[in-house]
Amino acid sequence: MDVQDDCIIIGAGPAGLTAAIYLARFHLSIRLFDCGSSRAALIPRTHNHAGYPGGIKGTDLLALMLEQAESFGARREMAEVTAIMPIDDGFEVQVEGATFRARSVLLATGVVNNRPDMPCEEHDDALASGLLRYCPICDGYEVTDKRVGVIGTGDHGMREALFLRGFTSDITLIAPGAAHDLDAACRAKLDAAGIAHVDGPCRPIQIRDGRIVVTTPSGELDFASIYPALGSKIRSGLAVAAGARASEDGCLEVDAHQRTTVPGLFAAGDVVKGLDQISNAMGQAGVAATSIRNLLDEQQSIRR
Ligand SMILES: Cc1cc2nc3c(=O)[nH]c(=O)nc-3n(C[C@H](O)[C@H](O)[C@H](O)COP(=O)(O)OP(=O)(O)OC[C@H]3O[C@@H](n4cnc5c(N)ncnc54)[C@H](O)[C@@H]3O)c2cc1C
Repeated sequence: MDVQDDCIIIGAGPAGLTAAIYLARFHLSIRLFDCGSSRAALIPRTHNHAGYPGGIKGTDLLALMLEQAESFGARREMAEVTAIMPIDDGFEVQVEGATFRARSVLLATGVVNNRPDMPCEEHDDALASGLLRYCPICDGYEVTDKRVGVIGTGDHGMREALFLRGFTSDITLIAPGAAHDLDAACRAKLDAAGIAHVDGPCRPIQIRDGRIVVTTPSGELDFASIYPALGSKIRSGLAVAAGARASEDGCLEVDAHQRTTVPGLFAAGDVVKGLDQISNAMGQAGVAATSIRNLLDEQQSIRR
């Protein structure tokens, strides 16, 4: 408990690992805690992350980043952080019964996608084979001119379906519950774009002969890929409990230096409001790490 690190990083996804590389290379003392549930680990192969012609598997990218962070002395500790408490000269961070102190904290805990109603194993198989996809920005290109289903409704479902319209003209928006919750304006936009809308409930969702098949009250529909547009849970609870301000949906508010509204508490990646992409997580983490270094230097001159 006497030892006070310069920074505790919570989360070892693309944001947390980038920050670990930067902070370790600034000769700062850091701890990096992780639960092993990075969204990046779910990526079968990313094709939009720059620098990898031919793409790279999410788990391979994470392994390379960890190796790089470790080469500068960072160490990932597999443990869940359960609380962050601001104290006079920094923070106390609770980790599975132990308490650690740090002069600053970086939250890089990401988000968790809400999943459609299907058995876990079938879900993971569909994800691995591209029958199920979560990120049109990332992989809309891969469904160009294919038959695509979007499970969702309301404004959010409509926006996802319209975004995908830039890749294919064959799109069906399926309500996850019973009837669609689409107002007249939403319906008009979908109709103008030629996007079909079908009431739910949509279950079961099954893999059949290399296609993904959804059963709805109006019959079975089969697709090359389905995108769930069911929102996500933002893992910002630790920061919010420490006093940080978040948007209504739970995304942390930060300034241009990735500072939350709690002094010394920074945030980067999907947990922050903005584009949920690896490149953005890495960019924000670079900014956060440099801001942390400069803050600590202002408070107490660091190594010269
Ligand atoms: C199927 C899929 C495909 C995608 N494809 C692409 C793509 O092609 N290109 C692209 O740019 N983006 C893609 N993304 C998005 C990308 O994965 C995310 O934007 C990126 O992983 C965000 O990084 P992050 O570090 O903010 O969060 P994450 O990668 O989610 O990492 C957060 C980490 O924090 C840890 N954590 C959470 N809470 C705690 C706690 N209390 N204590 C300790 N550790 C904790 C978690 O275990 C996790 O390891 C895809 C996402 C999905 C789901």
